[in-house]
Amino acid sequence: MAEKNSFFIDGKNLSKEALEKKHKLENDPSSRTNHMEYMPGMEIIESDICDKVMSEMNSYDYTKYTAVDVRNALDKEKCSIEDFKALLSPAAEPFLEEMAKRARLETSKHFGNTVYLFTPLYIANYCENYCVYCGFNCYNDINRLKLNLDEIDKEMSVIAKSGMEEILILTGESREKSDIKYIGEACKLARKYFRMVGLEIYPVNTDEYRYLHECGADYVTVFQETYDTDKYEKLHLFGHKRVWPYRFDAQERALRAGMRGVAFSALLGLSDFRKDALASALHVYFLQRKYPQAEMSLSCPRLRPIINNDKISPLDVHEKQLCQVILAYRIFLPYVGITVSSRESKTFRDGIVKIAATKISAGVSTGIGDHESKYDGKEQDTKQGDEQFVIDDGRSLKTMYDDMENAGLQPVLNDYLYV
Ligand code: SF4
Repeated sequence: MAEKNSFFIDGKNLSKEALEKKHKLENDPSSRTNHMEYMPGMEIIESDICDKVMSEMNSYDYTKYTAVDVRNALDKEKCSIEDFKALLSPAAEPFLEEMAKRARLETSKHFGNTVYLFTPLYIANYCENYCVYCGFNCYNDINRLKLNLDEIDKEMSVIAKSGMEEILILTGESREKSDIKYIGEACKLARKYFRMVGLEIYPVNTDEYRYLHECGADYVTVFQETYDTDKYEKLHLFGHKRVWPYRFDAQERALRAGMRGVAFSALLGLSDFRKDALASALHVYFLQRKYPQAEMSLSCPRLRPIINNDKISPLDVHEKQLCQVILAYRIFLPYVGITVSSRESKTFRDGIVKIAATKISAGVSTGIGDHESKYDGKEQDTKQGDEQFVIDDGRSLKTMYDDMENAGLQPVLNDYLYV
């Protein structure tokens, strides 16, 4: 197991020393650790995936692509890396309708008219990291909470009663507050209620992923946030998350540990979204070739709402550009799952699931311990933790299911038998 290599700071009543450290981290780059250097206890694996992805991303000059390149890419049966680069470029913006037609064809070839439904469950929101764009960061004064096993059981039973069969467990990123044993127990409970159990937790070593898999976890989601290592350094100032390469290899460690599937994402808008979209898709592409048995999926969140705008210099990604990214993903990676976050509007999600996305969350709450009040309208006696971000599409499972059916899609709660 990895050693504990960071500590939890309580954003409430920060000491003078803690405030000074925060100020220094923000203003003096030499006070920060090397973001490319592993911390003690972090497993290093031999892998060529990172070099392949980064060399493609670093040499990607999307301004050189023309309408002719985009037309050629759309005319080909199989989309190459070069074609994908053209589809992500500004030259493809006038071709969105044609890209949508092609994407819809690829989606129906590989997924029929199905759309998978799942819900996230935040069981804790403690975090040891200082990501400057996130309200959950360790220096922020928010209501922190960690559910005990009885409370997790109760939340899961409420969600399961709604008919949901797939759950994604999230913890925030504090190894100290939400240790592997705790997450493992949550997986065991989830296995009682759900047929598919996903995890979105801090990256861990292979032996820890193996343990979590034995406890019932099927797949692991890790957001790389940005593949631009210089920007990453400026945005992740403190904590284990600061170590970029350890995060990059998380999915590969999870697959080596026997996880059935892995999910990837960049937070579009933190850096150049075209380069981040290219790197995310290539991360999937190269790993898929190495682990052909694994299920892989991509998420496409955009940065919102944000704090510390002055430090981040966010690069806005408009709906049209997000749409271009998703369509390009689908054409390049026809059989990879694409998830659309509830941060996006109902209108956008309803449109994109008919064309390219295959997975959508429903009955979403990003708070802690509030499912009973949200699902059953009951007053809850327990304290509730703050929400990480505001969601735009708050449809319940029933409403989402009905909406998908009415749109001519086939909502799927699960297609997996646990053996
Ligand atoms: S983005 Fe994740 S790791 Fe970073 S501060 Fe927020 S909750 Fe913590």
